[in-house]
Amino acid sequence: MQFRDLKQQYHTLKAGIDKAILDVAASGAYVMGPAVVELERMLADYVGTRHCLSCASGTDALMLALKAWGIGHGDAVFVPDFTFFASAEAVSPVGATPVFVDVDRETFNINPADLENKIQATIREGELLPKVIMAVDLFGLPANYPAIRTIADNHHLLILEDGAQGFGGAVDGKRCCSFGDISTTSFFPGKPLGCYGDGGACFTDNDEWAALIDSYRMHGKGASKYENVRIGMNSRLDTIQAAILQVKLQAFDKELAAINKAAAEYTARLADIVETPAVPAGFRSSWAQYTIKLNSNAERNGLQAHLKGHGIPSMVYYPCPLHRQMAYRNSWQPESGCPVADNLCDTVLSLPIHPYISLGEITDVCNAIKTFLQRENGHQGESGQA
Ligand SMILES: *Cc1c(COP(=O)(O)O)cnc(C)c1O
Repeated sequence: MQFRDLKQQYHTLKAGIDKAILDVAASGAYVMGPAVVELERMLADYVGTRHCLSCASGTDALMLALKAWGIGHGDAVFVPDFTFFASAEAVSPVGATPVFVDVDRETFNINPADLENKIQATIREGELLPKVIMAVDLFGLPANYPAIRTIADNHHLLILEDGAQGFGGAVDGKRCCSFGDISTTSFFPGKPLGCYGDGGACFTDNDEWAALIDSYRMHGKGASKYENVRIGMNSRLDTIQAAILQVKLQAFDKELAAINKAAAEYTARLADIVETPAVPAGFRSSWAQYTIKLNSNAERNGLQAHLKGHGIPSMVYYPCPLHRQMAYRNSWQPESGCPVADNLCDTVLSLPIHPYISLGEITDVCNAIKTFLQRENGHQGESGQA
């Protein structure tokens, strides 16, 4: 069994993908070819923003957004403590400081009440100027944007949506990567919309920021390529990757329906025996991960070993909260910490899920989980009686 079966997807889309790759090879336009511009138009239309600017990775997309806003030394960017390292990592190269915010236990996403606390603590401390809220759509579920927007407006902060895992998610029909003042995504192969290497994109309705991102991604170009008006980066999406993504985007809605069906099958079988992921009313997840919560670290580790023994792959996303990462050991953080993120890192487990997973595979995973938990709870019962 595969954790995320990318080969099966390739097999299904093979004719279109092979042709797309060979067409680019024959065209000679390898960097910023026509497929890149076409893909950007398709993605902007899909998400519902005026602009889409592709780039070399999801990490670069976050950095490009921060650069376009002129975020730098002395600025605070509020980042959820429970996310992939890149969310925070993108903040540091521009000179700004990530301030870690605890997450909501039910949704795994940034907790608006703690966001307000951490903003207040940062203002009291007085060293950093609050500038940006980076909201992450973790595991495919959109963050709580109505609450985040209220807080952003009160404190005059910008919202940067890290939609690396969120592409395909939605709230009341409004799609992920349209919630931020600038939003970003990643096309890393395992993400909901993945290519065959690295890639990413920024989305915005703001013409001025779009023009700045376009400049920053190409060495700070001005009116022409060899007029450099600012220090930029070399961060472009390869034409071959754009061509592959066009084929995958056309299959995306069907895959999204299939992965939502798979998630519903898991929840139907598991909700009575383990804490399954919550999807608030009106929200749609793209199920970058299907993540359950166990009662303790020992139970989580025991279950993972049990599944492995049955040939079932599982992953711990994420084993370490960002505020405890060695790389940020010297970074100032509010004293209240992030206890929910600490607990989640000890107890979460992500199960195999992808659009091509079979009902038989889902049933096998659920049966293995049931066997393990019944044995565990049986032991507890025995010791309770003794
Ligand atoms: C994958 C990921 C990124 C980084 O994307 P890359 O394309 O790998 O650079 C950023 N944030 C989150 C939440 C991610 O999952």
